[in-house]
Amino acid sequence: MSLNIVMIGPPGAGKGTQAERLTRAYGIPKISTGEILRDAVSAGSGLGHQVSETIAAGKLVSDDIMIRVVEERLARPDVATGFILDGFPRTVVQARSLDAMMEGRGPIIPIVIEVPEDEIARRLTQRRVCGDCGATYGAFGPTGAPDAGRCAKCGGVLVQRKDDDDRVIRQRLHVYAEITEPLIEFYHTRPTFASIDGGQPPARVTEDLRAAVEAGMAVARNDARGEKGRP
Ligand code: AMP
Repeated sequence: MSLNIVMIGPPGAGKGTQAERLTRAYGIPKISTGEILRDAVSAGSGLGHQVSETIAAGKLVSDDIMIRVVEERLARPDVATGFILDGFPRTVVQARSLDAMMEGRGPIIPIVIEVPEDEIARRLTQRRVCGDCGATYGAFGPTGAPDAGRCAKCGGVLVQRKDDDDRVIRQRLHVYAEITEPLIEFYHTRPTFASIDGGQPPARVTEDLRAAVEAGMAVARNDARGEKGRP
């Protein structure tokens, strides 16, 4: 049975950092739609040109484009045993389409990381990313604080994400509250759903996440047994 984790939460909730940890713990790939889009922008591809202004404005890229990006990514063989989605779905339309993509793959485990808005704004203004490898640093970044303004992993120069400036942060938080938060309503009755307190120290968040994943897997296994037993 595949392990299909969907991480939901406001920008700066720690989804990326925690998704990396789950990737290592469970040996399944992380799929970050934000990263895919930023790579496309850096590469100057057709997709990059289509989305760069939208990202810079802190708005959402269209459902059509995002669904196509994720469909293509989920068709690759490395997701046969599962995946961790970070940043998709962000709208109910995307969530419905993900359900359709999951036909025959087993259930998803949707996990929300909740963090209060003032804490989010503080984290995002402090966040820096490596211009070379994309590693993220902030109050809760990886160890090896970026004192010298250099990446602890590859030595690249640390920069602020273009969409981490005050005005764009406010826009992204607005988009989250208006468009993405309704996803919690969409998912919360599923037996695999969990909500985690993302305001805790990162190690505690990881512990809670792993407990939620284990609980979700147990539910999914029971469901699969039930399906088999049915005439
Ligand atoms: P993130 O790195 O997840 O914060 O994503 C950065 C930006 O990419 C977002 O502010 C959106 O402009 C765009 N983006 C990423 N994922 C999606 C998505 N699922 N739907 C729409 N836009 C997205």
